[in-house]
Amino acid sequence: MIIAIDGPAGSGKGTIASLVSKKLNLVNIDTGATYRCVALEMLKEGVNLEENDKIIEISKNVDINLTEDSRVFLNKEEVTDRIREKDVTKIVSQVSSIEKVRENLVALQRNMAKGKNVIMEGRDITTVVFPNADFKFYLDASLDERVKRRFEQNKEKGIDMSESEIRDNIAKRDYNDMHKKVGALKKTDDQIYIDTSNMTIDEVVNKIVNIVKEGN
Ligand code: C5P
Repeated sequence: MIIAIDGPAGSGKGTIASLVSKKLNLVNIDTGATYRCVALEMLKEGVNLEENDKIIEISKNVDINLTEDSRVFLNKEEVTDRIREKDVTKIVSQVSSIEKVRENLVALQRNMAKGKNVIMEGRDITTVVFPNADFKFYLDASLDERVKRRFEQNKEKGIDMSESEIRDNIAKRDYNDMHKKVGALKKTDDQIYIDTSNMTIDEVVNKIVNIVKEGN
């Protein structure tokens, strides 16, 4: 079974997917983490955003491993928290706009799901990676709410970004992610749309779990 979830930054995809995966015994695949790993490797190698060929090379060769307990390894080194930091967050959307990078990472993501029951979240999962998924959701929330959530989440992780920096970053990423030539974040008629602005985490999780249980 494949459950696909798309939505903008801070809409709750990560938290919800992780909880639903435990309830339904699914492997949870955070595709944003794969783009973040490519961005981090660029920073490590001193590659800048103009060097497309080098970025594409990185996306082809990096060793990315997402563990069952949601930890992220890049070339065997744990980077779970590192990839959420400001420097990576600032460039990741531009990195993900490079079509060849997307091709390489979509192939990697499909491979990660092979033969497994998965819940996969990102921006183009319902449209590009698994357009034939068994269930497709679009999670949304108001910009204010998403900024608030990300601010709290960053505080817990010790990431130093002000609310206005977060707002600016999320708004820019939203725009960029919705206007990509390939793999843009889109609302479609065949997704189940959930506005989580006024919902608790448990409410969203239960809604998704019930839909999946009823649909099976
Ligand atoms: O989900 P997260 O915020 O970690 O994703 C980081 C960035 O990776 C997004 O802003 C987007 O540019 C990119 N991304 C993407 N396609 C996906 C998942 C993430 O382009 N499926």
